[in-house]
Amino acid sequence: MRIRIKRAALGIAFAAVGAAAWGAGQAEQRWKVHDMKRPRPQVITPGTFSSAEKAGMPPSDAIVLLGNDKEDLTGNFTGGKWIFDNGIYMPNGGSVDTKEEFGDCQLHVEWAEPTPATGTSQGRGNSGILFFGIYEVQVLDSYKDETYADGQCGAIYGQYPPLVNVNRPPGEFQTYDIVFRAPLFDDQKHVTRPGRFTVFQNGVVIQDSVQLTGTTAHGHEPRYDYFKPTGKIQIQDHGNKVRYRQIWIRKLGPEVGVANPSGD
Ligand code: MG
Repeated sequence: MRIRIKRAALGIAFAAVGAAAWGAGQAEQRWKVHDMKRPRPQVITPGTFSSAEKAGMPPSDAIVLLGNDKEDLTGNFTGGKWIFDNGIYMPNGGSVDTKEEFGDCQLHVEWAEPTPATGTSQGRGNSGILFFGIYEVQVLDSYKDETYADGQCGAIYGQYPPLVNVNRPPGEFQTYDIVFRAPLFDDQKHVTRPGRFTVFQNGVVIQDSVQLTGTTAHGHEPRYDYFKPTGKIQIQDHGNKVRYRQIWIRKLGPEVGVANPSGD
């Protein structure tokens, strides 16, 4: 069953239905200001930043899907035939998906565009990170090469161009840090909470909590199709030799909404 949502209605749907769907579960978790009984966040060890030359380290609570060393973790992926060589993972026939399914999450991905660069527009270093296989954060060589804005590197494909073009030259490793909130549906398969993306590329925010208007797709207006709240994460093989290293993920709990609505 295909569900259409008008962009203007999304905010209302989120406010009304989202409050019912999520707020009900969160209402009992409201706390008085400075309540000493309020649970403290889990303590974790931070990671270190990656650069074009050197991969960083994931935070202590991350699930490492692909390392930056010689340890072969490609068993975390399934599907297409990819090449693993000395910590680098590269498409060689078909997209790959994580074996595990994830819902709301923070995902870190590092990749380098082919060098020397060949092709242009959508044929230049095309790959992508597709949550549930249907919501794509575009990977493309957009360094001194142009394509349509909502399809360049960092775009939510077909929906939102990135805020800036912060691409490094081909051959240099780049990073994505993506916060994904999955679309949620009710029993009638109506959207109760549109999906959202926040994306940092090379440490710079390029998508600021943008609201998905549906499945990302080429050549037609997006629309929502029902999907369960978890799914596999796909790395796209678009026929270009984009190299990947270090991919890690952190699962996120439900959103907590307004912490102290009364302000007291
Ligand atoms: Mg792509």
